[in-house]
Amino acid sequence: MMALKMVRGAPPQALLALCLTCCVAPLSAAPPLQGAPQRLDDGYVPVGDILYSAEDWACLHAKNLMSVERLWPRTEGEVKIPYIITYKEMNMTMLEEAIGAWEAKTCIKFLKMEEGDKRAEYLEFRAGGGCFTVTGYVEGEVTVSIVDTCKGRSVKHEIGHALGMRHEHKRSDRDNNVIVVRENIDPKMASNFEFSETINCGIPYDYFSLMHYQDTAASINGKRVLVAKDPRFQDIMGEGTEITHWNAKLANTMYKCVDDWLEACGQTSDPCENGGYIQKDCSCACPLGTSGDKCQEFAMSYRDALLEKYSPYTSVINTPGAEVTSPGYPNDGPQEAIRYTQVMQAPKCKKAVVTFTDFQLGEEDDMPNCKYTSTLEIRTDVSVGDGKIFCGEGIKNQQVFKSDNSELIFHYKNYDFLGNGGENAYRGYTAVFTTEDIPGCR
Ligand SMILES: [Zn+2]
Repeated sequence: MMALKMVRGAPPQALLALCLTCCVAPLSAAPPLQGAPQRLDDGYVPVGDILYSAEDWACLHAKNLMSVERLWPRTEGEVKIPYIITYKEMNMTMLEEAIGAWEAKTCIKFLKMEEGDKRAEYLEFRAGGGCFTVTGYVEGEVTVSIVDTCKGRSVKHEIGHALGMRHEHKRSDRDNNVIVVRENIDPKMASNFEFSETINCGIPYDYFSLMHYQDTAASINGKRVLVAKDPRFQDIMGEGTEITHWNAKLANTMYKCVDDWLEACGQTSDPCENGGYIQKDCSCACPLGTSGDKCQEFAMSYRDALLEKYSPYTSVINTPGAEVTSPGYPNDGPQEAIRYTQVMQAPKCKKAVVTFTDFQLGEEDDMPNCKYTSTLEIRTDVSVGDGKIFCGEGIKNQQVFKSDNSELIFHYKNYDFLGNGGENAYRGYTAVFTTEDIPGCR
């Protein structure tokens, strides 16, 4: 309920940020749970009609929940979450789509409560000046979801919290995947970036998770708060609008859906490979990059497959002498709005050097950082969260850029001229990648 108080007292600009980022009451602020289940002598932990193995218990306890008491209970082998809508102007299409998406990928069902239903625990979608959810189920309490300003994917994100999920960028392995730039975080939102000691149950860190923030979410100054350690993912971080394979696998593991399906399908262990898992119809749910009835055909890693699908112009350039160009240069630039990243990667002890021979990106505007035109941002190292932004003819012929270490990073963003009644009638850019020694490096 802390979140509620915070919203009501927040100034308008904070409300906007909250709405964009879907804050959640931090678990660390929750009161200690009473009557935690007792571990049996053999390590098993009984909760309701479920017996958790020591391993599963550790996983659930540490991964996303303070306790399995934060899981909605199962009755007669089913997870049913009752809900009411007290927000009169609720966007029902958006809510039904979000509920339907979770129901389609998990064994969890959402049941609209009848009038006069007096149960103590349910999920309430209410108006409250923001986009929030209290994490998970609490005995004797209403799990509140405040959705009047939620847009797009954020209703699904909030339901993820209501199921008990934490933010992806709080995971124990997040420091291998993102750099959190503390000075850019709105202090009121800092709890959303607190590190959590988690066990991750073999589920990999997912930049495209529904529970991952975008890179400038909760920023106080518009600069990046989250910087991808693998810069190829900077542009797609937190951009996923659907429940990913890993989101669904986590929910289905937490709520024992997979165990139920294995039993119903007459299997003693999961036949699906490469991170897949068995589903209700006994087929395998496979992560991107794999195929076959058991996910046995491995074409590429999930991450590489994400890029291929959602950021196909993103590339790594590591051959000295290679040309670095915008797609379709010079006469056939993309007409749709796109974003991509180019990483110029030099070997150890070498700097990446890029020499431009042509640069023209749309009309230069007089806004800071070329707000209403196409842009190229150049970062000189992965530790430099925000680079210099160029548009128009802002880079001269033979102008040279060098990395601080071995990586020079380009982020291209194409303003949606077509969507705004114009056309992309500029050449783009072309440059040459070379390397040079870093003095004193061995
Ligand atoms: Zn959230």
